[in-house]
Amino acid sequence: MTKTTKELDRATFNRLCHLADTDPKAGVMYLTGHDFWDVKPKNFEDPWFKSLVKNYRYLSQAELPPGVEFGISYTTVSVHAPKYLAYLHEQILARGGTIDRTTVPSLKALAQIPHPDGRKPDIIINCSGLGSRNLSGVHDHQMFPTRGQIVIVKVPDEIWPKAKQFTMERYAEGGAMGTGTITYIIPRDNGEIVLGGTMQHWNYQEEASEETTKAIMSRILATKPDLFSRATILRSCVGLRPNRRGGVRVSAAVEQLDWNEGWDPKVVVVAHNYGHGAFGYQASVGCADKVVGEIEARLVDLEDVRSASRTMSKL
Ligand SMILES: Cc1cc2nc3c(=O)[nH]c(=O)nc-3n(C[C@H](O)[C@H](O)[C@H](O)COP(=O)(O)OP(=O)(O)OC[C@H]3O[C@@H](n4cnc5c(N)ncnc54)[C@H](O)[C@@H]3O)c2cc1C
Repeated sequence: MTKTTKELDRATFNRLCHLADTDPKAGVMYLTGHDFWDVKPKNFEDPWFKSLVKNYRYLSQAELPPGVEFGISYTTVSVHAPKYLAYLHEQILARGGTIDRTTVPSLKALAQIPHPDGRKPDIIINCSGLGSRNLSGVHDHQMFPTRGQIVIVKVPDEIWPKAKQFTMERYAEGGAMGTGTITYIIPRDNGEIVLGGTMQHWNYQEEASEETTKAIMSRILATKPDLFSRATILRSCVGLRPNRRGGVRVSAAVEQLDWNEGWDPKVVVVAHNYGHGAFGYQASVGCADKVVGEIEARLVDLEDVRSASRTMSKL
């Protein structure tokens, strides 16, 4: 059964809450989420996650920033991405995994790299994000970049206890897709605060623009002057979201990657988990669970396909 995005997000949220409860090393913390709409959506319906989060409520007029017509708040989590990735890295090593970093030109080349114990792989999982556009054996032309620029700031110590509790996303009329901008605040557990941002499709420019930094700061100051009027800018950064027309690809199949002599068997389970766009963290655990399920379902056929392939290669 194909899981919906909601199910992917739900599984991830539950796991992140568990980490916030149990493991400070993971870089996940609780805080209060705010969604602000400059113009109240017609026939507003509560979001699907109302049943998932705690403390969901509508904000009163007095709690809304100037220019905002409607807002909701709820308890959510933030992920300090670099710390969380380092934590996951450690988890892999602790379970006996090893990590090699190299650029691979094709799935075929990847399948030829032996394990440290000399065995050829049974499973390849392609998580190459935007790289899936050019990776031979994938060449997914539905992939495209959505550029995001953010500003990382610190606030004075006396403001931090309040600022670390506050995350928000503000929807202008027309939304991010219409304007190329998106206004959000995400505190991290190390005292830094991420301010966003942009949503620029097909833009590969990896240098931060000073003009964009100023525009982000001005939108944030207009929304939360009490928290950010004395903020210090630490740096501006750019990332390319690995977006995909048609949405994320999570799948697995038994594939014969080549007929080269001397490589037998050449049949492996090839799985894909890429194209998460702006939701790679939010959907990560759900996608990982789903790809494992897909792989397990295909592994059952692997030996049969391999022996059929050996027979074919002798004909
Ligand atoms: C500004 C910004 C803000 C964001 N905010 C959020 C947010 O609030 N919540 C959220 O959930 N997500 C957010 N995202 C999106 C999130 O960062 C992505 O969805 C996520 O990083 C995708 O992860 P990934 O591992 O699939 O792809 P990537 O992070 O792009 O990783 C792919 C990796 O594959 C490697 N690779 C590619 N090709 C090859 C090759 N041929 N050989 C070897 N390696 C290769 C790349 O070097 C890279 O390391 C944000 C992104 C940006 C830019």
